[in-house]
Amino acid sequence: MAKLKAQRLELINPSVIMGLVHKARQIASTGRPIIDLGIGEPDFETPAHIKESAIEAIRNNITKYTVVAGEPRLREAIVAKFMDENFLTYSVNEISVSGGAKQAIFNTMMASLSPGDEVIIPSPYWSSYLDIVEMCQGIPVVVECSPAQRFLITAEQLERAIGSRTKWLILNSPSNPAGGVFRPEQLKELAQVLEENPDVHILSDDIYEHFMFDENQFTSILNVAPQLRERTVIVNGVSKIFAMTGWRLGYCAGPKYLIDNINAVQSHSTTHASSISQAAAVAALTGPKEFIAERSASYQQRRDIVITGLTAAERITSIVPDGAFYVYSDCSGVIGAETPSGQTIADDVGFCSWLLECHGISTVPGVAFGLSPHFRISTAASEEAIESACTEIVKACSELVFRRE
Ligand code: PLP
Repeated sequence: MAKLKAQRLELINPSVIMGLVHKARQIASTGRPIIDLGIGEPDFETPAHIKESAIEAIRNNITKYTVVAGEPRLREAIVAKFMDENFLTYSVNEISVSGGAKQAIFNTMMASLSPGDEVIIPSPYWSSYLDIVEMCQGIPVVVECSPAQRFLITAEQLERAIGSRTKWLILNSPSNPAGGVFRPEQLKELAQVLEENPDVHILSDDIYEHFMFDENQFTSILNVAPQLRERTVIVNGVSKIFAMTGWRLGYCAGPKYLIDNINAVQSHSTTHASSISQAAAVAALTGPKEFIAERSASYQQRRDIVITGLTAAERITSIVPDGAFYVYSDCSGVIGAETPSGQTIADDVGFCSWLLECHGISTVPGVAFGLSPHFRISTAASEEAIESACTEIVKACSELVFRRE
């Protein structure tokens, strides 16, 4: 019997991140201690008042179908969030709530791409952008952004990447995996190019907007170029900011015709996000927010521990991230080196596998994010764990032998 597999899945890559997470868990299950800096999930807990609101929702029988786009009171809370935090005006029917920001992105691409349409994805990128575009039969146009440009796409690069089939540019600031943050001037330069290319739409994934470090401030492209509003979709969610990854609740805002199409896609897949998670999201968005600044300060502190800790790591270089909760380090200096057991480090996958198997540190290789040789360290772990991991990485790198020099 032939095994069924859709043609559109031929291009989908199994998640490198999930593969390593699985391997780390397997090793941990044998009793060996592993420091897990692989997964991009806040180590904080969902705040108590949000959990209580969900329990209350269950007691009050908020357990039935909701409208596809999300409960009106949740969309009202999202409209208020955009106004208060981003100075952007949306109406309730310009918002679509979904099962996570990931689903919002999937719905958007599904609703707008025809086979062969192109999507510009600056690398390093969050891996799912690429696979979602491919699943929707679009063509990802990856634009490599070097550490020298702080991993951020420039106006010149954007201009060069745009073709007659370009439908979207994906922006993610602060970014996963590199923590790059666009300054208003940089966004203005991108907007100028976009103005000259009226068929190019912008998907702005703002999921890390509250985790900004030092003097950095979050700016939306629509703050500097409001004229792009009719072709911009802003994606956000409660996963990272409120430590609610498992609740699966995200949303997007955009022009009504596109939101209607996004809702049409959703109406035939998941129908809507969980009614209980929607109730919890109302509590999250309308409740106290002081803890967010504290958590952001904590991520900054952990970033500093990684940056300081890794300065002693031979041949590893890191750009100081301006936001999010990752450090994306360059490991090109260790490629070709030999480990004490005589194994050659061929690439960043080899480096990360060696760190995991021989040193008990779980990280993610740059290949998962489209820019090698790098590796990503997630700072969503305790300071002690991060410190020990950095000490171990420094020790590991000092053991490497370079034969060809
Ligand atoms: N966007 C980026 C850049 C992410 O890193 C992630 C999760 O890692 C998501 C979106 C997905 O968020 P959600 O949990 O809301 O689907």
